[in-house]
Formats: sequence, C-alpha cells, structure tokens
Amino acid sequence: PVRVRFAPSPTGMLHIGGLRTAVYNFLLARKKGGEFILRIEDTDRSRFVPGAVEMLTESLKWAGIHPDEGPGIGGNYGPYVQSERLDIYQENIKTLLENGSAYRCFCTPKRLELLRKEHTRRKEIPKYDNRCRHISDATIQEKLDAKTPHVIRFKLAECVDSWHDVVLGPRSVELWKHEGDPVLMKSDGFPTYHLANVIDDHAMSITHVLRGEEWYISTPKHLQLYKAFGWDPPEYAHLPLLLNSDGSKLSKRNADVDVESYKKKDIFPMALINFITSMGGGFTEQHEGMWSLDELIQRFDITKLNSHSCKVDFERLQIFNRFELHRHLESPSERMNLVASVRSKLATKYPNEIARTLSAEEIIRIVKWAKDRIHTLDDLIGQSYSYIWARPLLTLKDIINETECDEKTVMTVLKNTLSTIRESQFDAETLNSLLRQQGKMLKEDVKFKDFMKILRTSLTGSKEGPPVAEVMLILEKKETCLRLDYKRL
Ligand code: GLU
Repeated sequence: PVRVRFAPSPTGMLHIGGLRTAVYNFLLARKKGGEFILRIEDTDRSRFVPGAVEMLTESLKWAGIHPDEGPGIGGNYGPYVQSERLDIYQENIKTLLENGSAYRCFCTPKRLELLRKEHTRRKEIPKYDNRCRHISDATIQEKLDAKTPHVIRFKLAECVDSWHDVVLGPRSVELWKHEGDPVLMKSDGFPTYHLANVIDDHAMSITHVLRGEEWYISTPKHLQLYKAFGWDPPEYAHLPLLLNSDGSKLSKRNADVDVESYKKKDIFPMALINFITSMGGGFTEQHEGMWSLDELIQRFDITKLNSHSCKVDFERLQIFNRFELHRHLESPSERMNLVASVRSKLATKYPNEIARTLSAEEIIRIVKWAKDRIHTLDDLIGQSYSYIWARPLLTLKDIINETECDEKTVMTVLKNTLSTIRESQFDAETLNSLLRQQGKMLKEDVKFKDFMKILRTSLTGSKEGPPVAEVMLILEKKETCLRLDYKRL
C-alpha cells in the first residue's frame, strides 16, 4: 500500500510551496487508497520556532488536508515528532558504525574552521577531508574514555550514484567528488536531517518521497544510506520550484507566501488548492476550472507532473476564488457560512450608528449581485461598496457641491423622487422609466446629468458606482426612501 508523508520542519508558518507538497502527497495517498502521514522534523534545534507546529497543523486543517497519521492524530508508526524518536536514531546508527559505513569524527570546530579557510584561500569549495576515517580503534577508545566530544559521519561511497526520479527522470552524480563525509549524528546526540529522514521513512514504511526540488540534492546521500542499512529505498519524486513572474525563487520579499496570509485575505481554501495545483501539471487533463478535492484525486497522476519549474500567476488565484464564491452561493450550507463571514467583517468595519441591519436573505442577495464584480468577500466589504453596508453621512451642502444646482433644486429633486418611488413598484424596469420621466419633467430646472448626480450622491455618498436604478435595487425600497429623505440631511 502507498504510504506518503509530509515532513515539515517547524521553522515558521506553512509556505504555499509546503502546502503544495502536502496536497500532492495527500492526492497520491487518496488516489491509491493509501495513507498520508504528517511528520515533524524538528531535530535542528537552532531553527526551531515555538508555536510553528501548531501553526502548520492549523493551516493544513484550514486547507482541509487531513493526515491519516501524525502528532495529535495517532497511528501505528509513532511518535511522529523526530525529537521524540532520539532513541530510535541512536539504536539504528549502531548498525552503520558496526558495518563500517559510519565513523566517529573527533575533529574540533577549530580544525574544521581552519580547513574551511584553507579551502577558501585556494578558491576551492570547502569540504571535510575525511581525516577521521583513518584513526585507529585504540585512539577512538581512548577518546571515548576521555569523553571527547565527537560527531558521527557517513562514509560516502566513491562511486557514481544513478537513480530514477519519478518527476525529473534518470539522474546520476558522483557525490564524493564534491562533498566530504556528511555528519549523521551531532555531538549532542541529535541526528542530522539526513539520518533522521532516512530512518523514519524506512521505519514508517514510506513508499514514495514526494517533496520540493530543493531536497533533490540530498537524494543520492539518502540512497547511499539505504544501501548501508540494507534497506529498500522508496520512490523519489521532486516537485519543481515555484517562481515569481520574473523567474526568481518565490519568496516573502516578492509575494505573500504564507498560507495564513491567504486565509486572512479571505481566499477560500479550495481556491488556494486549485491555484497551487494548477501550475505544475500532475493531472490526466488540463487543470483550468475549479475542481473539488474528489475531482483532484480522481484526475491526479504522479507521472504527469511537470519536470520544469513554474511561474506563479497570482491573477489566477483571484479567478479561482471568484469561481469558489459562485460555488458557495449555490450551496445552502456554504451560503450560511458566507453570511456569517460577511457579518463578522461588517462588525469590525462599520460602527453601529451607520451600519444597516440586514437579514441573511438580504446579504445573500447583495453577494449574488456582486459575484462578478469581486474576487473575495473582502472586496465587497471595502471602500467601493461601503454604501451598501452603511448609510453615507451627508449634509445638503455635500450634495450641492457635487452639482451646479442650488439648495432649492436639490430639495425638489429629492422630494419628488422620494414621493414617486414610495408609490411605485420596485423593479428595474419601473425604476428606469420613472427616473427618465422624472428627469424630463424637471428639465427646466436641472440638467439630467445633475439630476442623476443628486440622486447618486444622496444614495451612495459618492460620484461613482453602478447606475442609479441598480443602486436603488441593491438598497431596496425602504433604504432607498430613507436616503432620499432630505429631512435627514
Ligand atoms: N524537513 C524537510 C522540510 O522541512 C523535509 C524534506 C523531505 O521531505 O525529505 O521540508
């Protein structure tokens, strides 16, 4: 059975690249009827950020990507946090020491520093010179007895490593030519990423390692480790990098990269998931429209993942979000969530005195009206639509200033319009013809353009916006009449 894992290090918030890795792992597991595991790789204590595990878990939960096993979830392969598995690494590394694939290294930080300097001076890439490969057993025992601090290093094989990456294709590299023997266990007894990652993937019966391309360079090392342990390696598949539109690596400096920031910006989880999976292939058909999680699973095919990096076009996220908004409007239960969202936003944005009290039906009617004008709910709550939610604070003077009319004309326009509208039917056709008639009638005193300006300003407090009749419809009769009532001004 397929078993895959998402193995973040708790160094901060969940990046959209990280979410993408998690989603593809999830899709592969679901597609194959296998398991999706969350494992926390926290052995690098210097990079540990308190609260990061909680943030990562929270973001995954928000996105609807639920692991089958993991911290706080359980499973037969726990613990799922590496810092709770130190004894497992200690136990396993014995195998490598015994079969000669690993050795203790007593080189002091000072020696390593001098070595680095020497390499730099000679304009060479700094690498460990593998000196401790050659110390005698007696010396080792002596140093151990004296409790000399040391690390354990892996003896890189002097060979060509060849393998097949599911996404990137055939690969080969001669590691030992470029690198010194890597550290597996630090002097404080904590494993390095390479050791813990390989031991855990094996211990947790992981069948496919599907991860970001930045981990690709570790693969030959990991494969050598599997060989040294005498274990079968999993399949490797590396996801190409996400790039900014200028081709640079997607980073905090250029864009919002944390899942959390999209949540805050009112992006729907499924819009974000469609966005991040629509860029790099991986499906049996072109991914352009909005797919549900089930559709993504059905159409997922790991062999169809692109092997080249992809540029991120944030415009598409907006489009996906609009699709998702439409879908939410169609579903009775999602509609209620929309209403709740709008209400909570309104409560923080508009003070009570000017805010309108709106029923759930009225809110839905407004969102429906706006669905092709906005991308997120936030757009609808913002400045350009504030007149919908709150009565503009106006004086007669504000309206006069918008036009070339005097006080008397403005009052007449408002008064006449108010009384005709009160008496009439409230639909688009009636309103349009009423406004036209009304305008004609007043032609002697006020230009049609000014007539409309007076109405628009009193209704919205602004010069711009949709046609006046449409504003009236969106406000509905009661609110329209209230705003046309010059006595309030
Ligand atoms: N701990 C690594 C990370 O933070 C995981 C790399 C891997 O999946 O092997 O992404």
